Order: sequence, then C-alpha cells, then structure tokens
Amino acid sequence: MAKKLGHNIIDNDFSLVPIAIKDAWVKKLAGVTLSDIKLTTFQNRHKQEAYKGKLLFTHVGISGPTVLHMSKEVGELLKYGEVTIALDLFPGVDHTILKSQLQALLIAEINKKIKNVLGKLVPSSLVPVLLRLAAIENETPNHSVRSESRKKLVILFKHTPLSVEKLLGADKAIVSSGGVNLKEVNFKTMESRLVPRLYLVGDMLNIDRPSGGYSLQLCWTTGFVAGEHC
Ligand SMILES: Cc1cc2nc3c(=O)[nH]c(=O)nc-3n(C[C@H](O)[C@H](O)[C@H](O)COP(=O)(O)OP(=O)(O)OC[C@H]3O[C@@H](n4cnc5c(N)ncnc54)[C@H](O)[C@@H]3O)c2cc1C
Repeated sequence: MAKKLGHNIIDNDFSLVPIAIKDAWVKKLAGVTLSDIKLTTFQNRHKQEAYKGKLLFTHVGISGPTVLHMSKEVGELLKYGEVTIALDLFPGVDHTILKSQLQALLIAEINKKIKNVLGKLVPSSLVPVLLRLAAIENETPNHSVRSESRKKLVILFKHTPLSVEKLLGADKAIVSSGGVNLKEVNFKTMESRLVPRLYLVGDMLNIDRPSGGYSLQLCWTTGFVAGEHC
C-alpha cells in the first residue's frame, strides 16, 4: 500500500527466523533448551561468526533468541553454499579441562555405564545423541571407554556440528526486514513526507534490529509518536 502511494520500499524481506537443520537427531530433541552455549557458523571449513546465548531445539531444527539473531547472517552465507553451525556446550572451558573432567567422572563412577553418568557433565537429553555421534555403545561400562572415544566426546562437547538445511519461511519469521525508506518519514511525527496524514510505524519502517524486545519497542514508540500527532 505504501508503495502504491509512492513510497520507496527498501529490500523488503523477512528476518529473525528459526533455522531448519538436516541432522535427524536434532528433531528428536524438540522442546529441549540449552543455556550458555556458543554457536559458530562455518562455511567451507572457515569460521565465520560466533554467538553466545540460548538454544531451543524444535521439530525442524533450532530456534531461540540466539538463533533468531544469527539467522540473517546464516541466510547470507547460504547464498554462497553449505553452512554448518558448531554447537559448543562449554564456551568458557577448553578441551584440556574438559578432558580431565570427563576422565575424573569416569574414574569416580568406574563400575557404572557411561549412559548413566554422562548426564552429570552435559544435559541428560543430549547423552544418547553424543554417544551415538561418538560411536560409543550406550551400555559401555566407564572402565571400558577407550581413550579415542573420550577424545571424540570432548571434541563433540566443544563442536557438535549442525548442518543447515535452510531458513524457515516468512510465516515463521518474527519480524520483517527492510521497509519504507526512512528519508521519506518525519520522525518527529511519524508522518509520511510524501503523503500528508499518512503515518508510518513499526515493522513497515526500514529499521534492522536484533531480537530481544527491540521490535515491540519500535512499534510501541513509533505508534505512540504517531498517535500524539495524527
Ligand atoms: C511469534 C512472534 C513472536 C514475537 N516475539 C517478539 C518479542 O518477544 N519481542 C519483540 O520485540 N518482538 C516480537 N515479535 C515481533 C513483534 O510482534 C512485531 O515486530 C510487532 O508486532 C510489529 O508491530 P506492527 O504494529 O508494526 O505490525 P503488526 O503487529 O504486524 O500489525 C499490523 C496490523 O496491520 C493489519 N493490516 C495489515 N494489512 C492491512 C490492511 N491492508 N488494512 C488494514 N489493516 C491491515 C494487520 O492485520 C495487523 O493487525 C514477535 C513476532 C512474532 C510473529
């Protein structure tokens, strides 16, 4: 409608979307949330950006504030090829310390099975997944977990790969990106500079913002200003 009235619409698209993941195990964790994790994007094995925060597994992939926030960059990378996201469960802890912690846990519970103790180190919902990815039999007693397997687990703690399938579509997007050219709006009143008594607010405006309440703040603030002047 704004376009029909003569406004220039810049790069109108959707933004802040969940990410679909190819790996089947991800879907089995739907509903599980992880806090204090780090997600790092990779393309052609080259590290791109890292994001710290929370992750929510969904029935098609991953979501949550951190994922929504990184979705724009992932969308850009997908234009150039495959994208992998590395999940780091222990962003503040290095491999050596994790190796010692795992070793100490297995020794302390030496006669138990790994499937029953690994949950003391990582979220229990991830235990079967990590064991499968590390090719460790669930029923393995702790005293029989080989050095090579322990090494694989520690690598997975720091770098569980998630293969990006695609960004979900506009129907799952939290906000639109792009919108009416800001030069065509008087921000003191939110009135169009082209069409008298037309007020442009919220998602319609070409204002990029991360997740975290900025979108509601934008629509409330601009809506309030418009309401004061129309
Ligand atoms: C699932 C979800 C979760 C979200 N969570 C958050 C959050 O936690 N924090 C945050 O900051 N933001 C969040 N957002 C984003 C936030 O809700 C939007 O940015 C905000 O609602 C935009 O407000 P708006 O008034 O600009 O547009 P809208 O809320 O989209 O309102 C536009 C209105 O215009 C009406 N309309 C459209 N076309 C016409 C027409 N031709 N004639 C008449 N009426 C028309 C529509 O029916 C609608 O009522 C979320 C969005 C979604 C979808």
